[in-house]
Amino acid sequence: MGPSFPSVQSFYSREISTAAEKDEESQSTPRKPGDGFTEEELADAVDPLRRKWDPEREYDECSIDNLIPGPKAVTFVGRIANLSTIHGSTQKQPKAAGWHYLILKDDTAAISIKLYFSSGQYPLKLGQLLSIWTIFISDAAKANTTAIQGVLACANLFPGRVTSDHVMIHTNSATDSICRTPLTYQRGRPLQGLITLDSYLGSGGHDGVVGVKILVCVKSIGPKKRISKKTGGECDLAEVMLFDNTGDIRWTLWGETIESAKDWQPGKTILLISNPGYRVEAHSQKGSIGVQQATMVDVDPEFPDAEWLRKFAVGVTKKESLCVEFPGDVFNEDVIDGAEYGVNRIMFRLAEIDDWVRNNPSHSFTGHVNITIMEMSLVKLRTRGMLLCNECCGVPIYANELEIPCKNCSKSLKLYLNPKIIGMLIDETGCITPGKLLWSERAWEQLLGRTVKEVTEMTNEEIRWLEQRMMFMRMHLVFGWEESVGRLAILGMRA
Ligand SMILES: [Zn+2]
Repeated sequence: MGPSFPSVQSFYSREISTAAEKDEESQSTPRKPGDGFTEEELADAVDPLRRKWDPEREYDECSIDNLIPGPKAVTFVGRIANLSTIHGSTQKQPKAAGWHYLILKDDTAAISIKLYFSSGQYPLKLGQLLSIWTIFISDAAKANTTAIQGVLACANLFPGRVTSDHVMIHTNSATDSICRTPLTYQRGRPLQGLITLDSYLGSGGHDGVVGVKILVCVKSIGPKKRISKKTGGECDLAEVMLFDNTGDIRWTLWGETIESAKDWQPGKTILLISNPGYRVEAHSQKGSIGVQQATMVDVDPEFPDAEWLRKFAVGVTKKESLCVEFPGDVFNEDVIDGAEYGVNRIMFRLAEIDDWVRNNPSHSFTGHVNITIMEMSLVKLRTRGMLLCNECCGVPIYANELEIPCKNCSKSLKLYLNPKIIGMLIDETGCITPGKLLWSERAWEQLLGRTVKEVTEMTNEEIRWLEQRMMFMRMHLVFGWEESVGRLAILGMRA
């Protein structure tokens, strides 16, 4: 180390490197023989310290169940199943600014890790794949932590200070399929300890049963909130709603764990939570769950139950979704042209459409229908600030403006006219309840006689007038059905 680096601290505190430096550094990333990754995959991994690391010794590649307590240079990979961060130095590591408590698991076993940092904390998230290099493994039974089922070993690492320790965060999609199998899973057998949310909540399944597991899908992710603690100071929390086919439950995330949730997708991300903490809550019958020291979270685990829940979630999400974005790829200009002017224009009644869809949902078709507007909610929804809507992070978002940032992920969202401005529609054979149709922007323009933007700019008076004019209006709609869309799409309006 030359004179330009007066202390280890200042060298390692260099957290942001330029692209060129990063390139050069990643190219020189050492590849240990047999570590299971290609040069390229390792180059795509993030070294949180951004240091050159050229160990002289050879590290044996191990699966976690093969880690033997004692001194030995080993390297292993695993996904983060539990994560919490403590700030401040400890007696053992006075130079540390804090440490992360981690449980890392592969397909064979789990290990608990104390990962010390000297300046900034590592950008860790639940579910991330890490490669670890260390020269000492401790026996979990002898460490002064409470025993956790499945955790046999533990390790203390301080990569910023100890040159034989190293950690890499894998970000490449090539490593996506690694370490996704739940612990103790055996092909063809049900996963031990796995119960439904219904039995977890209802029959006291949560009550101190070691090894209890729930498999859930993320329903929604709430915004980050800052609250003051009873013990002084402030902390951040975010609430994530989870569901399976039997029920739903709230999960409160604290501190840095909130970052993990930002990558999760409502209706898609599946979590296997082992040994969740359960909290009775005064204002809700259900209580909520949280992460305790013995909790393990598998993000998008791979086994048949997870596959089943993934499919179930897709169906439920589609049914419950506001579904306001018009699928322009399915009903493109050619389809719309054909529906409006083609030779196979068929006039339907509502009962007939219902029959067609029920009896043969996979059969796509377009047609025309004559209906009457029985209700309008244009004035009401605008007064409530719900003229337009969209969904983000699994949460419906309403406003009277065309664009608004999501409160949770801050992403700017384009909003669509709330389909519920049109109330009940009827013909002599049936009715369509509000919000069930999927309107194209063009169909809205034809119906309302102005662009969506112009609707948002109308005065109260003009809105009231428009609503009155449309009540009991009889109209001729061009519609399309496609199973993947799952709703009747309104392609246009004919005079
Ligand atoms: Zn969002």
